[in-house]
Amino acid sequence: MHDWSRGAACQAMDPELFFPISTEGPGREQVEQAKAVCRGCPVRQPCLDYAIDTRQLNGVWGGTDPEQRRSLIPTVARRRETVPAPPLPGDR
Ligand code: SF4
Repeated sequence: MHDWSRGAACQAMDPELFFPISTEGPGREQVEQAKAVCRGCPVRQPCLDYAIDTRQLNGVWGGTDPEQRRSLIPTVARRRETVPAPPLPGDR
């Protein structure tokens, strides 16, 4: 458990909501429900930072799905003035 996660809005929720089998089809509705929880979460930013830093490839973290996180990596790298992160597995 990370310090930031103690204030998580999802703390007492079913983790399966945040890890749908797919982000497409019926799983899309589940993703949107999870993102709605994240929108009211006081630790959304540290959660998102953690997910990007540790390359979480699945699930909803910090109000984002995996595809959104992949697109954020270059922006985060520039903001931190670091060398861009290597591509995620499966990226071309
Ligand atoms: S931002 Fe979302 S996934 Fe992250 S701790 Fe908050 S509710 Fe949970």
